[in-house]
Amino acid sequence: EPVKVEVGLGERAYDILIGPGLLGRAGAEIAARLPGARVAVVTDENVAAAQLPVLQAGLEAGGVSSTVITVPPGEKTKSFSHLETVVDGILAAKLERRDAVIAFGGGVVGDLTGFAAGIARRGMPFVQVPTSLLAQVDSSVGGKTGINSPRGKNLVGVFHQPKLVLADTEALDTLPVREFRAGYAEVAKYGLIDRPDFFAWLEKNWQAVFAGGAARIEAIAEACRAKADVVARDEFETGDRALLNLGHTFGHALEAAVQYDGARLVHGEGVAIGMALAHRFSTRMNLASPDDAARVEAHLKAVGLPWRMADVPGGLPDAEALLGFIAQDKKVSRGTLTFILTHGVGKSFVARDVPASEVLSFLKENH
Ligand code: NAD
Ligand code: ZN
Repeated sequence: EPVKVEVGLGERAYDILIGPGLLGRAGAEIAARLPGARVAVVTDENVAAAQLPVLQAGLEAGGVSSTVITVPPGEKTKSFSHLETVVDGILAAKLERRDAVIAFGGGVVGDLTGFAAGIARRGMPFVQVPTSLLAQVDSSVGGKTGINSPRGKNLVGVFHQPKLVLADTEALDTLPVREFRAGYAEVAKYGLIDRPDFFAWLEKNWQAVFAGGAARIEAIAEACRAKADVVARDEFETGDRALLNLGHTFGHALEAAVQYDGARLVHGEGVAIGMALAHRFSTRMNLASPDDAARVEAHLKAVGLPWRMADVPGGLPDAEALLGFIAQDKKVSRGTLTFILTHGVGKSFVARDVPASEVLSFLKENH
């Protein structure tokens, strides 16, 4: 039986199911929640090649009829032009508001598809079937959907909650190890935000998580519980939910600095470096002990994640330019910088008035 985590959002509450073999049960699980729905499956070329037949068999077995919309893989797919492709595909399939859209892939497909489902016919039900570790522990839960603008990441989108999340842990077997590792950064993030026991558990058990089996399922479930908790407390990010951005202000700046070139840096890798920098910066601001920053860096290094700016291949623009990317990030309000900083492992908090001059000196020192 899969692990079940409920996202407690009143009449918009939904289940996250986690475990092996869920693609095969997709039709039954969807038909139970959306009786009579036809579906459009949105996926990318890699996921289509690796996993689509398994999902299609699962849909057929549950009597759910489907059409498929395929987009190219990669961050650049979160664009207006691919949004148009997906919306047009939904309309061309003549889906009605009682039908559903399935996001079948990583966070890129999930964010794009959720947005398309949120605006096609003024909002259609959608189901997240995440196939990357990052998507299973983070992006598929919580209803943030959207695309990137040339002016920055995730700047265009809507909140639109899925009706169901099906995280088939076997689907991760075809995920490239680099992508698994990148997703692991977001798993560790929950420990660093406010679950120090979970971080300590990961320090001991990360190899088992990478190997698969029970430890992997437990790590994904714990991450989903953490995400579901925060989302239920603050669905629209007016407060606590911002904690999930730990590592993301620096991380997004690094992603922008390499022009979202996944060959150099993928999202989770940017987050890994960003989390290490957030801890190191917190020690510079005398908020946390250097031992905590060293502990975070050591763990990221142990799992093979990048943890400092020098780990980004091909070099980075100078500190001033990086600050420029940070200032373009949406977590900036009226000239002051908002960062998630920390008092130590598992003690993160939202800091709203961080002086840009401190950030600039820090970037220069750690470049
Ligand atoms: P991704 O969607 O690009 O997937 C990573 C790569 O793995 C892609 O090449 C994909 O084709 C491939 N892939 C995925 N599943 C596979 C499988 N089972 N087998 C083989 N290949 C597979 O990237 P991601 O890391 O999943 O997601 C990153 C995106 O998520 C970013 O755009 C980020 O902004 C977004 N995100 C959103 C939220 C949110 O709350 N909405 C949260 C975190 C991240
Ligand atoms: Zn992230």
